Amino acid sequence: MTHDNPPPADEPPGAQPSPGPGARPADADATRVVRAGLPAPEPYEPALPGPVFAAHYHLPGDVTAAPYDYGRDANPTWTRLEAALAELESPGVPAEAVAFASGMAAITAVLMALPGPTPTAEPADAPRPGHVVLPSDGYNLVPGGLRTLLEEHGTEVRAAPTAGDAQAELLDGARLLWLESPSNPGLDVCDIRRLAAAAHAAGALVAVDNTLPTPLGQRPLELGADLSVASGTKALTGHGDVLLGYAVTRDPALARRLRTWRKTAGAIPGPMEAWLAHRSLATLELRTARQAANALAVAEALRATPGVRDVRHPGLPSDPAHALAARQMRAGRYGCVVAFTLPDRAAAERFLGAARLVDEATSFGGVRSTAERRGRWGGDAVPEGFVRFSAGVEDSADLVADLREALAYALAR
Ligand code: PLP
Repeated sequence: MTHDNPPPADEPPGAQPSPGPGARPADADATRVVRAGLPAPEPYEPALPGPVFAAHYHLPGDVTAAPYDYGRDANPTWTRLEAALAELESPGVPAEAVAFASGMAAITAVLMALPGPTPTAEPADAPRPGHVVLPSDGYNLVPGGLRTLLEEHGTEVRAAPTAGDAQAELLDGARLLWLESPSNPGLDVCDIRRLAAAAHAAGALVAVDNTLPTPLGQRPLELGADLSVASGTKALTGHGDVLLGYAVTRDPALARRLRTWRKTAGAIPGPMEAWLAHRSLATLELRTARQAANALAVAEALRATPGVRDVRHPGLPSDPAHALAARQMRAGRYGCVVAFTLPDRAAAERFLGAARLVDEATSFGGVRSTAERRGRWGGDAVPEGFVRFSAGVEDSADLVADLREALAYALAR
């Protein structure tokens, strides 16, 4: 199992892996994303072959070595997407990706299918000792509905907040540590490298929800995690029209277990979604760069607005999480999300109603800016006036001007 792969201590944040003597420098992200997972060029074939719609494949004779047999087991469109995701999450080091129907399908697979760092021989119903450690402030379905599901199926769950690496206190006897950094929606950050080392010392696997940063913003496997897991529904695909999830690991045994879970639970992505996701990767670098720049500009404007409090964005130099984020995230890629609090629910609703360039919608990471009053769902421990904003790819000055106008209206009463 690959537990530790720390970069050299003197490597600057956001650095590309250094080439060996005589080697060509590694491609930059912007170059890597446009070709990741593409097949070798074939005359008269498209660069990215279209989605393969197949419930079954021609399958002569012995099935044991068949790459494609039944549509719930494998699909060439998934194979190409998975190659791309593995390359982006683990450039230069072999890894395997497993694509799922949604982020929750991927997360559930990791939390329910993986027994711990030393997989014993099947059967699948073998006892799974040890508890799972979750962030109490991560995406709310994880410490909420999924925690309940895990407990109903006999897994003990413990949870602590992301900030201050509080989850480290719960590792004794754990089988899996689940991290989400930056956390959604509070945007706290934990020290992934430190927590991964502590978890491995305690005999636990480490998985990181990498939804918010995307692999261009953060690479958990390079920080020592065993798995990088994400909802591809958000910034990865970025157009608000696809539900998708994935897990990437450098450990083939873990990847095998996840594939077995996917096939058994039927948590498979549609070929169209997988193809759309792969197509979207070519613009991932452009989109996430503009979104991160817009998020920072918005966060700075919010901080300068009297009446707006607790502005959080890991890219803001004054943010309590910034120093740590700068050590483990890639420079200038702190994600598209900004959190802030208006005086009360009514002010937040006025703001959301008045912003012309910001759609009131849940989720984040899309090309169009969105925001919502997070308290309306009831699952997050946030004040009534708490707003989660997701920066799109609009012109930065237009976006900031629109937000200033909407804030002036919302705060005038
Ligand atoms: N992880 C994070 C951080 C999320 O915000 C979400 C959804 O909002 C998920 C996972 C779940 O992803 P999906 O909606 O694709 O199932």
